[in-house]
Amino acid sequence: MLTDCFLYQIICIFILGLIMGSFYNVIIFRTLSGESIINPPSKCPKCDTRLLWWQKIPVFSYLYLKGKCYFCKNDIDIMYPAVEFLSGMLFVFDFIKFGFSLKFLFSIVVLSSFLILAGMDIQSNKISVKYTILALIAAVLFNYNSLADSVLGAVIGFGIFYVLKKISLNIFEKEVFGDGDIYLLSALGAFVGISHLVITLVIALIFQFIFCLPAFVKNILVSKQYKIFYYSAWFIISYILFFMARIYVFNTNIFAKIFIFLNIIVSMFLVCKYLFSKIKKSEIALVEPFSPAIFLSLFLFLFLF
Ligand SMILES: [Zn+2]
Repeated sequence: MLTDCFLYQIICIFILGLIMGSFYNVIIFRTLSGESIINPPSKCPKCDTRLLWWQKIPVFSYLYLKGKCYFCKNDIDIMYPAVEFLSGMLFVFDFIKFGFSLKFLFSIVVLSSFLILAGMDIQSNKISVKYTILALIAAVLFNYNSLADSVLGAVIGFGIFYVLKKISLNIFEKEVFGDGDIYLLSALGAFVGISHLVITLVIALIFQFIFCLPAFVKNILVSKQYKIFYYSAWFIISYILFFMARIYVFNTNIFAKIFIFLNIIVSMFLVCKYLFSKIKKSEIALVEPFSPAIFLSLFLFLFLF
């Protein structure tokens, strides 16, 4: 009986998340186009036809219409159902974790703001400072019982990015991070606290790396500069050998270990040097939006900690 009741609650929360997600889409697209959020009613952005009620049902209308506008048959941006679905999942995970509580409310505001920012970033490479500040305030409120951890996280998050920005400006002689990203990191720090700042950032960077990988590999294949593949393979093989030596899969003497370790250092140096030179010559676009990676790492954070 109890589990049944819980299941109904989950379904209701999921539907609420979907509806909110569809509202987030309105915020994302109308903030970017400068339209009012309340007026006019939903319409197709391609043919301007007003949508019928069933065409506004989150996710399902997209699936039913097979991703095409009912009137003009133009493709509907995949971001609409993606944001709706992510929002639905977000509400469910958050509810499982916190139940009906203030923590639930504040974390929903934080993660929803990050979702909106990620959507804006993907659509236009711009983020609205308004939602970053909203996320920051909600993040501090979320940590009402560990305020020091939260505030320190915000300050250090701000600091880390400020330093990274300055360093990258010197190395690459161009903007690698936008100003918005600094405030974003500050809000992230406030949410996860100083204690989890580094791990969340590492997860975000891994997501970012994965997002940038396809364009990067394509770039190399087109320009036929395979050096980076050799360097990376060298690095990965030395690392695996080192790892196996450490857990004594095979017996190695100290010199073999030092040799393997040197291989890791040298190959890693070459990979970094190669990447740096490419970024400097603008052959790798580093200005892929960063906020989607941050949103996903926070989502994972909610799940893990
Ligand atoms: Zn249309």
